[in-house]
Amino acid sequence: MASSALFCHSINPSSSVFSRTHFPLPVFNSSSLEFSSFAHCNFCLKSRKSDLNKKLTQVKAAVTESPTVTESNGKPSDQKKLRILVAGGGIGGLVFALAAKRKGFEVLVFEKDTSAIRGEGQYRGPIQIQSNALAALEAIDLEVAEEVMKAGCITGDRINGLVDGVSGTWYVKFDTFTPAAERGLPVTRVISRMTLQQILARAVGEDVILNESNVVNFEDHGNKVTVMLENGQRYEGDLLVGADGIWSNVRKNLFGHKEATYSGYTCYTGIADFVPVDIETVGYRVFLGHKQYFVSSDVGAGKMQWYAFHKEPPGGMDRPNGRYS
Ligand SMILES: Cc1cc2nc3c(=O)[nH]c(=O)nc-3n(C[C@H](O)[C@H](O)[C@H](O)COP(=O)(O)OP(=O)(O)OC[C@H]3O[C@@H](n4cnc5c(N)ncnc54)[C@H](O)[C@@H]3O)c2cc1C
Repeated sequence: MASSALFCHSINPSSSVFSRTHFPLPVFNSSSLEFSSFAHCNFCLKSRKSDLNKKLTQVKAAVTESPTVTESNGKPSDQKKLRILVAGGGIGGLVFALAAKRKGFEVLVFEKDTSAIRGEGQYRGPIQIQSNALAALEAIDLEVAEEVMKAGCITGDRINGLVDGVSGTWYVKFDTFTPAAERGLPVTRVISRMTLQQILARAVGEDVILNESNVVNFEDHGNKVTVMLENGQRYEGDLLVGADGIWSNVRKNLFGHKEATYSGYTCYTGIADFVPVDIETVGYRVFLGHKQYFVSSDVGAGKMQWYAFHKEPPGGMDRPNGRYS
C-alpha cells in the first residue's frame, strides 16, 4: 500500500506577506525600460518587449505523475489512484488541487466557506502574480494560466517601486519586466482575487470542492489519513495537504497550537475608480512614511487598488458602518 503523509502548507505566521510579495526584485536603471504608448492593461507590449515576449517559453513541470495504490500482492492496481485530501480552497489549496488533478491524482478539497473565498476576494481586491508564479501556473495548466493572464492587468512593463510618501521622489524602482523576459517568463500581472479563485475553482471542478466543510482534525493511520469535519463527516484519503491558511487547523493538529505573531501593522485596503495621470508609466507605487505606508496599484478597467499599512495595536475592529471620521 502507498504510505500516507501529511503536508502543511508553508505559512510562517510571523512573516509579513507584503514584503515578500512586493519587494523581491533587484533595483534597476529605469532608462533601460522602453515605455511604449500602450493603453495600460491587457495589451501587447511593443517594440523590444514584444520581441522578448515572443521568446517566452514554457517552464516544464517537475511534478511526479500519480502513482496508483498497489494491491497487497504488490501489483499496481489500474483502478485505484492515490486520493489526496486538501484542507482549504484558497489560492494555495486550489493551485495544488489543480496540479494534483492534472497529474492524475484523485483530489477532494474541503473549504469551510466558499462564499468567503469569493467574497473575501471582493474586499481584499486584486493580487499581484509575479512572473515566477505565472510560470509555475503555466507548467501546471497552460490553459488556466492563459485565462488568468488574459484576465489580469500587466504592471510589469511600467515603473514599479518605492517613493518618499511626502515628496513623491523615487527611492527605488523595480524592473519586473527585464528579468522575466530574459528568463522567458510571463510578465507580472495583477488580477482580482475573486476572478483568480473562480478560474481556479472552475478548473479544479466545483464537484471536487466541498463547501461548508470545516476541517477540525485528522487521524493519521500510517498508510491512510482520515479528515474530520465540524459537521461530523469523515473522509479517508492517502494524503492530507493543509492549505487552510494562517490559522491552519491541520498545522495546529500536526505541530501544536501556536499563535500567529502580529507584525505591528494593520492593513486597510480598497479599490478606487481613479486613473492617475501617470498611469501609462507607473504600475504600482509604494509611498513610504513614518509608521505607515501606502501602496497603489493599477488593476485595470479604470481602477486603482490601494493598501494602507498602519502601525497600531493588534485586535482592531471595523466600526459598524465601516466608516472612520
Ligand atoms: C492585503 C493582502 C495583499 C496581498 N497581496 C499579495 C499579492 O499581491 N501577491 C501575492 O502573491 N500575495 C499577496 N498576498 C499574500 C496572499 O494573499 C497569500 O499568500 C495567499 O492568499 C495564501 O493562500 P493560501 O491558500 O495558503 O491561504 P488563504 O488564502 O488564507 O486560504 C485559506 C483557505 O482555507 C480556508 N480554511 C481555513 N481554515 C479552514 C478549515 N479549518 N477547513 C477548511 N477550510 C479552511 C479559508 O476559508 C481559505 O479559503 C497578500 C495578502 C494580503 C493579506
